[in-house]
Amino acid sequence: MINIAERASNIRARIDKACQLAGRASDEVTLIAVSKTQPVEALKQARDAGLIHLGENYVQEAVEKFDQLKDLDLCWHFIGPLQSNKTRLIAERFDWLHTLDRAKIAKRINDQRPENLPPMRVLIQVNISQDPNKSGVSLEEIAELAEYLQTLPHLELRGLMAIPAADLPEETLRQQFQQLKNSQTALHQQYPECDTLSIGMSDDFEIAIDCGATMIRVGSAIFGPRQYSNP
Ligand SMILES: *Cc1c(COP(=O)(O)O)cnc(C)c1O
Repeated sequence: MINIAERASNIRARIDKACQLAGRASDEVTLIAVSKTQPVEALKQARDAGLIHLGENYVQEAVEKFDQLKDLDLCWHFIGPLQSNKTRLIAERFDWLHTLDRAKIAKRINDQRPENLPPMRVLIQVNISQDPNKSGVSLEEIAELAEYLQTLPHLELRGLMAIPAADLPEETLRQQFQQLKNSQTALHQQYPECDTLSIGMSDDFEIAIDCGATMIRVGSAIFGPRQYSNP
């Protein structure tokens, strides 16, 4: 049996250490526990261990979890691929959206966001490894999408997110993270609320923190291997 509380405190210690080495305060980094494929029981244990930010990739799976966990104080982050026929549930149920990369989807979610909820906090996903199989805009396309998002009152652009290609050499990964950090810094100067950079997962979050991450998305290092029978 995996002890989620123990793993969470181990990750927190590693975050503190990485922040210290980078000369940053540890409260600059928000830990998102990526709970895709994990059973509700594991999410409850994560909440008991003080993890209030949860990341999910599959809308249908997430909705079932919401209903079972609705009494807990949790902040839900959608970090999966976007399909236009699933946007309504995202607009109605999530607090943050990390994977926005198209104006058309942005407009749909804006229009579907219920009036009684605060604007959906969104990040623009950037394809930093220029991987043709990955979603995300290029670095050059950020400004145009960011400008468009300012016209949508039910969305609040908060920064940038990326999923780098797997198994890059550390030097390449650092370069790509650094480029994204530079773009986020520029965006932040133009739009003061764009204070967020979502990079770093189980295998590379220390590097991401060194490169300026403010949100890290950690799955298997907290929950153990994904339970793919329950996608
Ligand atoms: C699954 C996933 C993660 C977590 O991955 P781990 O390697 O298990 O930490 C982070 N971000 C995104 C977008 C994911 O899909």
